[in-house]
Amino acid sequence: MLSLRIAGEEIMTVRRSRICKGCWNQMHVPVPLHGVLSVPFRVFGIRPSRMNPNTCTVCELMFTTVMKARKITIDATVLFADLRGYTNLSQSQSPDAISGLLDAFYDECANAIWESDGLLNKTIGDAVMAVFNFPIRQGDHARQAVLAARAIQERWSARRKTLVEGLGIAGADLGVGVGIHSGELSFGEFGRSHRDLTAIGTVVNLASRAQTAAAAGEILVTQAVYERAELAGSRAQEFQLKGFETPTTLYAA
Ligand SMILES: [Zn+2]
Repeated sequence: MLSLRIAGEEIMTVRRSRICKGCWNQMHVPVPLHGVLSVPFRVFGIRPSRMNPNTCTVCELMFTTVMKARKITIDATVLFADLRGYTNLSQSQSPDAISGLLDAFYDECANAIWESDGLLNKTIGDAVMAVFNFPIRQGDHARQAVLAARAIQERWSARRKTLVEGLGIAGADLGVGVGIHSGELSFGEFGRSHRDLTAIGTVVNLASRAQTAAAAGEILVTQAVYERAELAGSRAQEFQLKGFETPTTLYAA
């Protein structure tokens, strides 16, 4: 268990896996992540991944070291979550207040994503991007992404209230919009001078656009996610998304 503390106050405890879930999942090799048994591994640079502490740094780079490839094509689910009203707020609040808010948002997103075995791939300003089905393989990765999105909304609505009161910014919205899409994408290291481990492709772009279309407090998913996660009965709406010629049907999850 890991305790997260802010200003000496314990705000949450997170269950941590003792061994790397990715290595166990793919090779049935138990790689210890914590405690005395993990020391020899750490000497060789094998430690918990910063993108998912239940997996290791070997898993992150498995395709470069094991597969001798710079990138791989995988079937995966991509989730974007964005904090609304943050940009406006950053003009009226102190940098400390703003960074505290963003830290709290990243924490809630990270824990929701890791509970569903997703990879927190990037934090981009006031948004986070997560990938499901890598390095931990998940037959139900679309469903896991939806569960993570719902957990983000639940965690954040509870946390937001206290933060807004503490900052004295009662009028601020600070809801979260989430977008999710599933399909084939490229995952690897891109860029020569600045190497960046990330996912690229249409799936990533559409997930990002779906997030833009989502209102505060809303989760919008594509047809692919709707079908794979078996979300029968969800409300459908057509959107003209930037960069896409034909209207896209999105479902509220
Ligand atoms: Zn591993």
